[in-house]
Formats: sequence, C-alpha cells, structure tokens
Amino acid sequence: MVSRLYCKTCHYPYSTCVCDAVIPLYSPVPIAIIQHPHEARHAKNTCRLLQLGLYNIQVNRAASTFDDKLTELCTIGRPALFFPTAQSVDFDANHQRFMKNRPSHLLFIDATWRKAKKLWHSNPVLHTIPQWHLSPAYSSRYHIRKSSFSSSLSTLEAVSHVLKKGYSVDTSPLLNLFSVMQQRTQRYATNDVQ
Ligand SMILES: [Zn+2]
Repeated sequence: MVSRLYCKTCHYPYSTCVCDAVIPLYSPVPIAIIQHPHEARHAKNTCRLLQLGLYNIQVNRAASTFDDKLTELCTIGRPALFFPTAQSVDFDANHQRFMKNRPSHLLFIDATWRKAKKLWHSNPVLHTIPQWHLSPAYSSRYHIRKSSFSSSLSTLEAVSHVLKKGYSVDTSPLLNLFSVMQQRTQRYATNDVQ
C-alpha cells in the first residue's frame, strides 16, 4: 500500500491540501460539535473543515471524559441543540424566536443518521435542552458522501446555514472551502483511477 503524505496544518493529503483556501471566520456564538468516534476517522468528515474555517468552535469526541463534557454542554448556560426530534422546532420558520432565546452556545451532532440517533437515545441529557431542526428544503452541496445531519445536509452546511440565517454571518468563505475540498478530493480520486 502506498502511504500518503499529509499536510501538517489541514491534515489532508498533500495532493488535496486546502490550506490556500482557508479564510477563517469568527462565529458570534460558540459552537460545540458532538462527534461520534467513528465519524472522526472518516476522511470525508466536514468537522475538520469547520475547525479550519471557523473560530469559536470545539469538537467533542467520545472519550473517557465525554459524558462529563456532554453534561456540561447541556446544563451550563442556554444551549440549543440542532437535531431533528419529535419535539424539535423548525429553525427556518422560527429563527427570530430562536434569536430571542439568545442561546449561549449551539450543539450539533456529527454522525451518520443511525449513529446520531443512537447517541441521542443513549444520552438523555440531550433531551433536556431545546431542540431545533432545519427545513428539509435545502439540498446538499455535499456530493461525495451524504452526511446525516438531516436527510441531506452535512454538519458544515448545517452550521453555516444557522450562522447565516440566525446571526447574519457571511459564510461564503466556509462554503467555498467546502467546495474546494470536494473538487480536490474528486480530482484526486479521478486521477487515482486513471
Ligand atoms: Zn494543508
């Protein structure tokens, strides 16, 4: 097997390094990603791009301290969770109400749909905080791999959408970074086959 060399900054292989496309944005609200451990290992995961393209974000992976961290994230301040549940409120139809609640930080679950549901069921502390979902009307730009934040959005797109609609952040540098990653990964994959 040929080993690939990875960029030490963006952690993508040098062939698909995205460092030149990174223009970090500042999120006006702290963002916490709850990431399933399997997702962290997935090469096409969008959290890495979020960490490159956004300040004020933390990614929490399941580890020995995960439960404590999750409890802290759910019990301190006024968190808002973005995850479609039976009780979740449509963010797009109610984003003014969302902003009136002035959430102290936003939580997103990063996992495949099946694993996200498992994470939801096995962590009742998540059920105690307000839940929001995005309108399913958005089609994903994510051609490589369907993430399962909702039916088609990747975590990056979901975060970007909430920052833009709720907080009027111009997220185009983040979405551009996402496009660049996809173009380079696809180009690399094509060259690999030839
Ligand atoms: Zn790089």
